[in-house]
Amino acid sequence: MAARLKAVGEVGVGNADAAGSRIMVFVRLRPMSKKEKDAGSRSCVKIVNKKDVYLTEFASETDYLRLKRVRGRHFCFDSSFPDTTTQAEVYGTTTSDLVEGVLQGRNGTVFCYGATGAGKTYTMLGTMESPGVMVLAIKDLFTKVRQRSHDGNHSIQLSYLEVYNETVRDLLSPGRPLLLREDKQGTVAAGLTHYRAYSTDEVMKLLQQGNQNRTTEPTRVNETSSRSHAILQVIVEYRSIDGGSIVTRVGKLSLIDLAGSERALATDQRTQRSIEGANINRSLLALSSCINALVEGKKHIPYRNSKLTQLLKDSLGGSCNTVMIANISPSNLSFGETQNTLHWADRAKEIKTKALTTANEEVLRVTDSETDQAKLVLELQKE
Ligand code: ADP
Ligand code: MG
Repeated sequence: MAARLKAVGEVGVGNADAAGSRIMVFVRLRPMSKKEKDAGSRSCVKIVNKKDVYLTEFASETDYLRLKRVRGRHFCFDSSFPDTTTQAEVYGTTTSDLVEGVLQGRNGTVFCYGATGAGKTYTMLGTMESPGVMVLAIKDLFTKVRQRSHDGNHSIQLSYLEVYNETVRDLLSPGRPLLLREDKQGTVAAGLTHYRAYSTDEVMKLLQQGNQNRTTEPTRVNETSSRSHAILQVIVEYRSIDGGSIVTRVGKLSLIDLAGSERALATDQRTQRSIEGANINRSLLALSSCINALVEGKKHIPYRNSKLTQLLKDSLGGSCNTVMIANISPSNLSFGETQNTLHWADRAKEIKTKALTTANEEVLRVTDSETDQAKLVLELQKE
């Protein structure tokens, strides 16, 4: 067991490379919707070799038929998923390494970024028939924990919350807004429900129920667009015996379905909804400022500029693997939003994060006697 524990600090997970670590950036193209087809839209996105994304727009039908490019750009990402990609493929490429890291006591964060209707919630939550990253990650955690149950004792706890208009709400137990406070584990939402999870089906139901509690508001862009950021946090605690010590390792996986990235200007200017737009942009802006400050090694990281960044403080600044999934529509009617999303995703590729050599680990030396060690093992297995 000692040799296995020693290996922990040496293993790079997901995005570590020779030059340190960086945010991994993926793009997912969704299929054309019926509404887009009925509106006569054409596809303006082409994905080649599972990496390259070509964005083109044609000025007129004649140009289109002649295949003459009027505006266009080429981007390249860690992986780009065409519209035929399954949920399992997206999970396997973007998140499964992070799940392995969480079991080793490292934090991991996955963001879905993109305009309303681009496929963020489908990617994160999915449906009963095609569960998304949130559910597949928990399923994988259950499997991996079961495989390692002879080594120690694990607990998996879930919390699901939203940030809406700079207010934090519990999606699993809706009620009054929650206050944020700092403790030694980072920023916590006081009174947030933590569910100890035992099965994937139970988790899927819980998350779907939670998603129905998300704040939605009609806007001109999309009548049922979600205007809130939803954060699922999965905390895995692993306790094992190493010699005469109890080793506790805690890993946190944050899976985030961000609100639509479309600009406030695209919605109603003089109503409540433009205020929401401003706040949504404020959170997204604060997120990029924090990441940039971390990249530049600044002393002051402006986490306090928004609730979203306050909540993600330990995910962004600690020993954390970070993944961004940029969701896009194929339709030329969404050309502007797609271009914005790809531009932002392209910038995010340059963001460096801390080298991932440490795990959140606590060692409690309790005994040197072999009899007592045997008792400890039995004690852990009981829980
Ligand atoms: P967002 O959360 O970004 O606003 P949604 O995830 O709600 O967007 O997606 C908008 C619509 O497109 C939904 O009806 C969803 O089921 C569908 N959709 C999105 N991505 C896919 C996909 N990869 N395959 C099939 N349907 C998808
Ligand atoms: Mg959504």
